[in-house]
Amino acid sequence: MAIDFSPDVLVCGAGCAGIAAALASARRGARTVLVERAGFAGGIITTVGLPFFDGIARKSDRKILQRGIGLELLSRMGVCKAGDEYVYAHNPAIRSIERFKILLDEMITAEKNLQPLYHSFVAGAVTSGGRIREVLVANKGGIERFRPATVIDCTGDADVAFRAGAPCETSKEYMPLTLHFRIGNVTDNPQLRQRCRETLVEAYRDGRLKNYYGPGVSFLFANDEVYLHAVRVPADPLDPEDLTRAEMQGRRDAWTMFELWKEKVPGFENSYYITSGPYIGIRESRRIAGQYVLTEHDIRDEKKFADAVATGCWYLDLHPNYATAGSANVKPGGLGGLDGYQPDHYDIPYRSLLPKKVENLLVAGRCHSATRLAQSSSRVTATAMAMGQAAGVAAAMAAEGRKTVQELDGVRVRDALDQIHAGPFGG
Ligand SMILES: Cc1cc2nc3c(=O)[nH]c(=O)nc-3n(C[C@H](O)[C@H](O)[C@H](O)COP(=O)(O)OP(=O)(O)OC[C@H]3O[C@@H](n4cnc5c(N)ncnc54)[C@H](O)[C@@H]3O)c2cc1C
Repeated sequence: MAIDFSPDVLVCGAGCAGIAAALASARRGARTVLVERAGFAGGIITTVGLPFFDGIARKSDRKILQRGIGLELLSRMGVCKAGDEYVYAHNPAIRSIERFKILLDEMITAEKNLQPLYHSFVAGAVTSGGRIREVLVANKGGIERFRPATVIDCTGDADVAFRAGAPCETSKEYMPLTLHFRIGNVTDNPQLRQRCRETLVEAYRDGRLKNYYGPGVSFLFANDEVYLHAVRVPADPLDPEDLTRAEMQGRRDAWTMFELWKEKVPGFENSYYITSGPYIGIRESRRIAGQYVLTEHDIRDEKKFADAVATGCWYLDLHPNYATAGSANVKPGGLGGLDGYQPDHYDIPYRSLLPKKVENLLVAGRCHSATRLAQSSSRVTATAMAMGQAAGVAAAMAAEGRKTVQELDGVRVRDALDQIHAGPFGG
C-alpha cells in the first residue's frame, strides 16, 4: 500500500517511546505512519543493544507498576506472562536483541492502520500559525513531505519539536555516551571481574584509556559471552562532528579493552569480539520546556497529578561526565552518582508531553518536559514506552474528536489508558 503522506498521526522515531506510540495510535483506529532512521525498530534496545526494561517494576518488591505495551513486549519475549503481578527483577532483561527486532516487525505489520518507514530521517518541520504543517523526511526517495494532523516526536533528541520552534532546553554538560559491546568464548572464573577492572585502571593510568566505567562484566546473553557497558565518551550528541568523533572513540576504546583482557586476563585467552551496538548510546540531549516541567522535587515528593498518564519508579540516575565534573567523588571507573534517590513510584503528567507554542505536537520519551535530574529517572526504557503509549492514545483521541492534543483534557487521556489497563499505577 502506498505510504499515506497525510496521516492522522506521524510518529517520528521507532524507539522505546515511538514503538508504543505508533502501536497505541493505530490500535485506537488512527491512520498512523512510523518513521525511523535505522533499518529496524526498537531504539536503544536495538540501536545500542541494551536489553533492560527499567521502570516497569518497583525496586522494593518487584511489583509491576507500569502495565501496557512495555509489559506486552516483555511477555512476548518470554520474560514473564502478560497477567503477572510481579517480575523477577526491577530491571528485567530480554535475552535476544535480534528476536526483539523481528517481534517489533511482526507487531507493526499486524496493525492495519500502521505504516512503517525505516531508513528515513526526520530532517525538518515547517510551522505556521502555531501548527506543524509539514514534516520533512530524508530517505532514498529524496525529501518526502508529510502533512499529518498530529506529530509525536519520539526521536529522543526532540528533533521535531526543536525544528518546529517549540522551546527546548539543553545542559552545559551531558551524561557520557556509551557504546555497548559483546565478547564471546570467555570462561568465567572467580578472579575475572577483579582482573578486568585492574586492567582498565592500569590502562587509564598509562593513558591508553581516557575514560571507562566499571567495567560491569555480565554474562547476560550466554554462559560464555560477556556483555559490557564499560565505554564512556564525553561528547555533545547534538553536534554532528562531535558525535562522529564519539562513535570512533567508543569503538577504539571497546577494542582496546578487548585486546587488553585477551592479553592479560585468564578466561579471555580464546575470546573473540562479537559485536558492538550499531550506534553509540546517548543518555540525554534536548528536553522540551513544555506545559509542565517534571522536577526532581515532584519525584521525591511522589506528587500526584490528576492528568497522570505514566508511572516512573527508577532512581535519579545521573551519570557523571568525567571530562567536566572535576569533583573528588567523580572518578573514572565509577558512577559517582550525584544523587541516586530511589522513589517508590511517581506520576508523569500528560502536560509534560505537551510542548509550548506548537498545538499539534506531542513529545514522549527521554526528551519529554523534565528537569535534567528528573529526566535521569524518567528516561528509562519502560517509562519511555509508557509515555509513548499515552501520546499514541492521545493523538488518536484528538483525531476522533477533531481537536488538537493541547485541547484534550489529560484526565480523559488517563481514563482511556485505564480502560486498556495501561494507565498509571493507582489510577
Ligand atoms: C548507554 C545507555 C545505557 C542505558 N542503560 C539503560 C538501562 O540499563 N535501562 C534502561 O531502562 N534505560 C537505560 N538507558 C536509558 C534509555 O535506554 C533511554 O533513555 C530510552 O531508550 C529512551 O527512549 P526513547 O524512545 O526516548 O529513545 P530511543 O529508545 O533512543 O529511541 C529514539 C529513536 O528515534 C530514532 N531517531 C532519532 N532521531 C531520529 C530522526 N531525526 N529521524 C528518525 N528517527 C530518529 C532513533 O534511531 C531511535 O530508534 C540507557 C541509555 C544509554 C544511552
